[in-house]
Amino acid sequence: MDSSLFISMVWKMGLERYQRQILVKEFGKKGQEILSRKHIVIIGGGGLGSNSSELLVRLGVGRIDIVDDDPVEITNLHRTSLFNEEDVGQFKCQILEEKLQKINSEITIRGIQRRVTKENILSIVKNADIILDGTDNMQTRFLINDISIKNDIPWIYAGVYSTVGMVMGILPKKTPCLKCISQSIPEKTGETPVLGNLTSITASIQCTEAIKLLLGKQLSGLIIYNIWKQQFEQINIQKNPTCSCCEKEIYESL
Ligand SMILES: [Zn+2]
Repeated sequence: MDSSLFISMVWKMGLERYQRQILVKEFGKKGQEILSRKHIVIIGGGGLGSNSSELLVRLGVGRIDIVDDDPVEITNLHRTSLFNEEDVGQFKCQILEEKLQKINSEITIRGIQRRVTKENILSIVKNADIILDGTDNMQTRFLINDISIKNDIPWIYAGVYSTVGMVMGILPKKTPCLKCISQSIPEKTGETPVLGNLTSITASIQCTEAIKLLLGKQLSGLIIYNIWKQQFEQINIQKNPTCSCCEKEIYESL
């Protein structure tokens, strides 16, 4: 199609804000339409969650819930998105809802001020097309993993440590789950060191895996990025045939 004709068609459809994105051949108008119908729940609105939520809002995902019960702290500002000094002391989910809605008024954004527990997680994620991990602890990640595998809701794990970011998209029963790879994830003790700019690139990789998953494309396995050494690894790991979660259906966190 002639490019000027294409651009006028995009404008008529009210998609002009996504004009440059729709030109991406891997994505296109179909990708934009699919995203507009999807619902993503982000658990955690800090370093990863705030960056991922901003990217998804700008990309045009139709409905986004951000679940977090912590206030913004001054120590969050070096690695988060959208928060400023005036926001310190206010709840992250409320600040994100307010600021993100100003970026894109055509989508639905909800800040949910709750701590995710085994008692409430199903009610929070049951209508999600994907869950995004914006947490900072393995306990909550194993809870997300269990609810995801049990209820067939895909999720995208992401973690940051020092200068290393890790991301893995998980399709229940089809790809390895977090329990399958848990021995590859380093145990953390004490306060986690994080170079401030690591979270934005890790969130960006996480959002790319989320879009690919929503568009039915192949995921990239376990992605490990060292921002200091500029090393990018993509590891195609296999499911653990004796995994207690995705094989034996034992949901220890629920
Ligand atoms: Zn597994």
